[in-house]
Amino acid sequence: MLLPLLLLSAAIPPEVARQLVGGALSDGVAYARLRDLTDTIGPRLSGSPGAEAAVQWAVKVLKQDGLSVRLEPVKVPHWVRGEESGEILPAPGIVGHPLALTALGNSVGGQATAEVVEARSLAELSALGPSARGKIVFFNHTMSKPDDYGRFVEMRTHGPSAAARLGAVAVLLRSLATASLRSPHTGTTIYDADAGQIPAAAISTEDADLISRLLQRGGPVRARLSLGCRMLPDADSSNVVADVRGRERPEEVVLLGAHLDSWDLATGANDDGAGVAMVMEAGRLIGSLRQRPRRTVRVVLFMNEENGLAGGRAYAAAHQAELGKHVAALEADSGAGRPLSIRLRGGEGAGALLAPWLAPLEPLGIRVEPGDAGGADLGPMDSASVPLVRVHNDGTHYFDTHHSAADTLDKIDPAELAKNVAATALVAYALAEMPEVLPRPVARPARDTPAPPRPAAH
Ligand code: ZN
Ligand code: ZN
Repeated sequence: MLLPLLLLSAAIPPEVARQLVGGALSDGVAYARLRDLTDTIGPRLSGSPGAEAAVQWAVKVLKQDGLSVRLEPVKVPHWVRGEESGEILPAPGIVGHPLALTALGNSVGGQATAEVVEARSLAELSALGPSARGKIVFFNHTMSKPDDYGRFVEMRTHGPSAAARLGAVAVLLRSLATASLRSPHTGTTIYDADAGQIPAAAISTEDADLISRLLQRGGPVRARLSLGCRMLPDADSSNVVADVRGRERPEEVVLLGAHLDSWDLATGANDDGAGVAMVMEAGRLIGSLRQRPRRTVRVVLFMNEENGLAGGRAYAAAHQAELGKHVAALEADSGAGRPLSIRLRGGEGAGALLAPWLAPLEPLGIRVEPGDAGGADLGPMDSASVPLVRVHNDGTHYFDTHHSAADTLDKIDPAELAKNVAATALVAYALAEMPEVLPRPVARPARDTPAPPRPAAH
């Protein structure tokens, strides 16, 4: 079915398109690797034994695939979760309820028992003023679709410091989730240097609704939480960097990135095991072509995207002098939903140059379009104006399980994962083989704080 259209591709030799697209769609290798990573290594939070096992696993597999592999050092935060619990305390007219709760990443540990006050934004919190003193601040919100994540994530990243400035004793955050089934969704919080550090946890959306209803009845609602988490000294870790060396211009690099670390609550199948499997498999498929592409295709598995971005910063710093020769960069970090398009952030005319090369993806309904590209790990290299591409995929259900105990392999559709691999491999080959390089986009200042993922809302 695919074959006649592949043969029409003017820019990519048909046998190359057949190996990359046809191979990705039929060989099942990416899914088998994702299964290995999630089932046999498991959670991979920075500094944990799982993260280091994942590094060693990736090195072994990439070497087997024939890529030239090296480790680049990264110092990472080492945060551990410990025991955690919480409850709504019984009171006259209120029965007690256990809370489905989990600490936000990087939170300090500690206990708090206090009255709960609700705020639906940071602005609403500051309006509470001194009345938040001594209280547990409960951040509530109305996230209902993936695009809402960007609007509400500041409550998670900066809410605890804002609450501490008002004298609050702890924070409970409604999980940033589009579905819950009573599982809380973690994610990093960032303490500001000028504020005290108070314990902060996410609660399930059901428990958030319950607290809100109880508060609407009038009268105080009291809660207790106990978090056993703590920050240990920074740990030594690594980015995994693996090259398929270009045959003509090896110094020019097409970077394919994903992050190897995950949260500790689950095996990180969508975030970001899927992305890791995609870029590793794209590297393997390109490396096994009879003729390597003109430029180097570089697979980078970043460490510590989730709670520090140390890997992204370390890569940008170590390769500063070569970023001008990075002709394109892609980060796969939005799950494995159906690929919809190739998003491109390049200079004038970049899309028109790339489009003919992507003809083999047209049977999958995938075309190039200008738009949001890049990824958190690529933020630190923003000032180098590297053209950014992204396989824009369906994120409808991404935040149902994101950062929760439910981010497991069963949420991945092997056929959709394979289409993402096909798109990633083909766009990487095109960028590494086309005679011209894409015009570079207007520079923007380097970002070195975690940017939220922005999967498509379809
Ligand atoms: Zn991620
Ligand atoms: Zn994440």
